[in-house]
Amino acid sequence: GLAERLQGTLKKIRGKGKVSEQDVKEMMREVRLALLEADVNFKVVKKFIADVKERAIGQEVLDSLTPGQQVIKVVNEELTKLMGGEQSKIAVAQKPPTVVMMVGLQGAGKTTTTGKLANHLRKKHNRNPLMVAADIYRPAAIKQLETLGKQLDMPVFSLGDQVSPVEIAKQALAKAKEEHHDYVLIDTAGRLHVDEELMGELDEIKEVTSPEEILLVVDAMTGQDAVNVAQSFNERLGISGVVLTKLDGDTRGGAAISVKSVTDTPIKFAGMGEKIDALEPFHPERMASRILGMGDVLTLIEKAQTNVDEERAKELERKMRTNDLTFDDFLEQLSQVRNMGPLDELLDMMPGAGKMKGLKNVQVDEKQIGHIEAIVKSMTKAERDDPSLLNASRRKRIAKGSGTSIQEVNRLIKQFHEMKKMMKQMSGMQKGKGKKKGGL
Ligand code: GDP
Ligand code: MG
Repeated sequence: GLAERLQGTLKKIRGKGKVSEQDVKEMMREVRLALLEADVNFKVVKKFIADVKERAIGQEVLDSLTPGQQVIKVVNEELTKLMGGEQSKIAVAQKPPTVVMMVGLQGAGKTTTTGKLANHLRKKHNRNPLMVAADIYRPAAIKQLETLGKQLDMPVFSLGDQVSPVEIAKQALAKAKEEHHDYVLIDTAGRLHVDEELMGELDEIKEVTSPEEILLVVDAMTGQDAVNVAQSFNERLGISGVVLTKLDGDTRGGAAISVKSVTDTPIKFAGMGEKIDALEPFHPERMASRILGMGDVLTLIEKAQTNVDEERAKELERKMRTNDLTFDDFLEQLSQVRNMGPLDELLDMMPGAGKMKGLKNVQVDEKQIGHIEAIVKSMTKAERDDPSLLNASRRKRIAKGSGTSIQEVNRLIKQFHEMKKMMKQMSGMQKGKGKKKGGL
């Protein structure tokens, strides 16, 4: 994929003390190919390469970076800029409710994203959205949204499939005002292709609801097609932002890179899976880092923060700093890490995780968890609190008591120390993270 290819190229110059003009040119040739292969629009590629070259060649070398790192830094910054620079947030109406129209082609992920967005607005922003089933054409579309509503225990407005989408939207808006919903998310119908009938209908809904946001949902896997769709919708209807779905799949990444520069509308969210919570605000700088294989530390930390109870996290952080993490904390930490998702996936988001072979030893598979629990429970309270007590005879006793082996006990103790190290690293990164800006 794009990431691998770029990383291979970048690796060649990463360690170099000096980067010649020739090096930069060669590297940019590779980057260019990688981008084209990832289905990035060729005009975008051309401009990108020109911009990077101009900045990378003949620029002053910063003290803290090697020239190779400096080129990477420029590529990273330009990629970030290409994807919109700053994170672009969802609008908030002066006077509620904020109306959001979800538009896009069939199968792009509109209905799923409507549910995900409702969930996101409630969970992250404490909002109270009303979802609206305005796709009356696809037989199961209304049902699909209603099912999502039930799953989330959130309201869905529908009038069946005998009332026009425009009328549904109008009545939904009245209802939202009456019931003080602060967001109205309208799930509209899609077509297989952009056509005049669809656009006409969307235009009418736009007319009667005056949406603050028209979010175009596009499938990242369709590459440049996604960008073309975005362009047509923008020209015909006007869109305020893009949701790029299926970024979890085997995506070539091209759409993420070109959407903003081709349509001049920002990507606001990324769909990362089929599950209801698999929606993330789109961060250009994180996406750039991810593409360049620098790891997505911020996403990792944010994930960790949502899943770990705040107070408990603070206490753990203090413990990590002072290095008196206990085995009880370790057990708890393991289960929290499990809640975040597959550990491999988490490790992939960390910079240089591939190199941190030690971390891969902190394998948390479901079977092992049982053993780990048994081992920890066979320790005395004193041992759990102070692992340095664990001498050979105590380890032997614990192995016996837990029905495991001394090797397993030893391995766990080793993992514990590695986990401690990792936690320390993570808490260090967390401190480096800046304050969030206001708004949604
Ligand atoms: P719509 O026709 O635009 O309303 O599309 P749907 O919401 O019905 O989604 C079509 C299919 O795409 C469904 O099977 C969804 O589960 C799937 N889907 C939507 N978003 C994502 C995503 O971010 N990742 C993955 N892997 N699948 C998604
Ligand atoms: Mg749908």
